[in-house]
Amino acid sequence: MKRVGAHVSIAGGVENAPIQARSIGAKAFALFTKNQRQWRAPKLSAPSLDAFLRNCDDGGFRPEHILPHDSYLINLGNPDPEKLNVSRQAFIEEMQRVETLGLVMLNFHPGSHLRLIDEERCIELIAESINMALEATSTVTAVIENTAGQGSNLGYRFEQLASLIDKVDDKSRVGVCLDTCHLFAAGYDLSTAAATEATFMEFDRIVGVGYLRGMHLNDALHPLGSHLDRHACIGKGTIGLEAFRYIMAHPACEEIPLILETPDSDGWQEEIQLLYSL
Ligand SMILES: [Zn+2]
Ligand SMILES: [Zn+2]
Repeated sequence: MKRVGAHVSIAGGVENAPIQARSIGAKAFALFTKNQRQWRAPKLSAPSLDAFLRNCDDGGFRPEHILPHDSYLINLGNPDPEKLNVSRQAFIEEMQRVETLGLVMLNFHPGSHLRLIDEERCIELIAESINMALEATSTVTAVIENTAGQGSNLGYRFEQLASLIDKVDDKSRVGVCLDTCHLFAAGYDLSTAAATEATFMEFDRIVGVGYLRGMHLNDALHPLGSHLDRHACIGKGTIGLEAFRYIMAHPACEEIPLILETPDSDGWQEEIQLLYSL
């Protein structure tokens, strides 16, 4: 089964995320595990955790259908040693929080070199950060998201994702989340079925489709190769419907979270229905 869902809100507590997901007909969901604009978070309370587990169960969401996203403040490739340490500590805490929630993945953007170090050195720092986080936890998988290549963000080329994975010690606990808007902005064409197939084949050749643990389904506001990270609603942007038709039929996308991060949350229910109709 294809597991389409959306990045839902945790307003009022994480336990509300599966309720909102269920109410829009989602079969998967993404969430922040804490306020994404703050470094620290209060400990999860036992009642909140119990309610989260119960609500996930009631909604038919298994841990592998739920894709938590880390805080945007974290930069695992920060060239400043002190700031890097703060990011690493926060990332480890988020990985541990994911385990406390009974979940199995944490989705994150690799990091930025801030034009202070070269890409190769930044990739080394990020891989080191991932290794540290995997060592500090026992079951959660670090899921690297491809980026649009905006600013000095790394992870916009498949070669960079492959290089990161290559440097991670425990390959069984590292994966990739492909964001369609980011792919397109980074220059990977998705505007026709044939172009989408070529992009997936290149991903398989360079990274390996076996590492695919989730997708973010977003149309793009800007043209191919813009390097601008601006999402559009499905079918209303520069990518168009063919890529999503291809993804909804692809065997590698079975039983993994396919998450909308499109701008109009009121339209998610309809977008989910549209995707299933493809
Ligand atoms: Zn994304
Ligand atoms: Zn984005």
